[in-house]
Amino acid sequence: MSFPLSMTKKPHFVLVPLLAQGHMIPMIDMARLLAKQGVVVSLVTTPLNASRSASNIKQDQTNGLLINLVVIPFPWQEVGLPSRCENLDSLPSRDLIHKFYHALDLMQNPLEEYLEKQKLPPSCIISDRYMYWTSETAQKFNIPRIVFHGTGAFALLCSHNVKLHNAHVSVASNSEVFEIPEMPLRVDVSRMQLPSAVIASGNLDDIRARVEKAESSAYGVVMNTFDDLERSCIDAYQEKIKKKVWCIGPVSMCNKETLDKFTRGNNSSINEKQCIEWLDSMKPKSVLYVCLGSQCRLIPSQLFELGLALEASNHPFIWVINRRERFKELEKWLVDENFEERNKRKGLLIIGWAPQVLILSHPSIKGFLTHCGWNSVIEGICSGVPMITWPMFSEQFLNEILIVKILKIGISVGVRVQVRWGEEEKVGVVIRKHEIKKSIKRLMDERIDEEEEEEIRKRAQEVGGLARKAIGEGGSAEVNIKLLIQDIINFRIPSQQSF
Ligand code: UDP
Repeated sequence: MSFPLSMTKKPHFVLVPLLAQGHMIPMIDMARLLAKQGVVVSLVTTPLNASRSASNIKQDQTNGLLINLVVIPFPWQEVGLPSRCENLDSLPSRDLIHKFYHALDLMQNPLEEYLEKQKLPPSCIISDRYMYWTSETAQKFNIPRIVFHGTGAFALLCSHNVKLHNAHVSVASNSEVFEIPEMPLRVDVSRMQLPSAVIASGNLDDIRARVEKAESSAYGVVMNTFDDLERSCIDAYQEKIKKKVWCIGPVSMCNKETLDKFTRGNNSSINEKQCIEWLDSMKPKSVLYVCLGSQCRLIPSQLFELGLALEASNHPFIWVINRRERFKELEKWLVDENFEERNKRKGLLIIGWAPQVLILSHPSIKGFLTHCGWNSVIEGICSGVPMITWPMFSEQFLNEILIVKILKIGISVGVRVQVRWGEEEKVGVVIRKHEIKKSIKRLMDERIDEEEEEEIRKRAQEVGGLARKAIGEGGSAEVNIKLLIQDIINFRIPSQQSF
């Protein structure tokens, strides 16, 4: 689709997400928030990914938002990926990751050809940090590139400062705790809690080097967070990178209608009516929602422990299980154990994709057991429910620190070891049924002597209120989106600088 000439005065934002659920979904929300401010948005995607969000975008277009899906064929065949492997969630093995990134690189030419043909020239590119080649595209079109990391300011600042000072090198072991330098508040971590991108070199070093080079020349950074949540870290990060930072979150809150929430991110594996009827049938503030994100590859024996803990804790639950490589083993266990039948009064299993934002916004939800992916964290915050944290890898352990120690809106399930993609079997079971059950009972039980838990619940509600304020009319999200758009309208290429 090309835009009519009558629109040529409008700013035109080109959004280029990484093809992974945790990166695409917030960018789709971002597209809407920008379009609601009168901007024309081109959202770059591929056929399979487009099919997951097409109904949402179509609805936006019907509502008058100028969002255009730019569907670029993904060259999976050309690089030797399995058929229709267009999203990190469908990559069967970590060994294929280089091929996946190579295929992402091959999207550059088709995108540039597409942009050249447009009557409405692009005003800027907002792209995922891993879509580093977009900095060349931006240069060709003489427009600024803005980076989207997909994580919050706290984790970004921690990672930045550890790297800058090599703070992790001075400790003798992965479990020894050290203080992260130059944080606006004291943060103690061990090496184990840091993203591998910060501490280790490995087979993705070449990609990371390109990511960092492209980042250093970017015009600024856009974040899915809000001022009242992470203000001191946002300011400190901005000072460190000496670039503009716009915090336009929490973006998930732009999904106001039930249909938007239901269709967000993928085709849901549960029928809308069934899901809502189940939630409605539960008492207010009684259900634990359990979802470990779109990339979870925990081994079946670990998931058995989780299932048994859910059952033993005796609270209603929704358990989202994604269909991974070893799903068959888990499915067999569920059948052999008669798990669903045994738990049919209080448990709902969603095998595949769950409408997370819809579920979290329902009044029957009391707690959220999360893997601490940043989107889930901020969606949990918006819902005002306390969390049980079960980080696995990447910056998830830092997000856990934010939830448990800084914001004090959750409790840790007690995972002490990273379970990185490809290492699940080697690491084995990291947390047992009785430990999981203990955390669930702590968060979900109502006892008289539970001052600390009550405080956690109260604070989660308060922070939820701040999130709603941020995305409400005149809130920080709207103010910062307007500032971002104004900055792009006023942007002039610096005479001596290439970006
Ligand atoms: N999500 C969802 N349904 C699912 C699994 C995930 O809607 O069954 C969404 C979730 O709401 C979030 C995103 O997928 O927006 C996952 O991003 P996050 O950063 O939490 O974790 P990741 O999947 O990247 O590890």
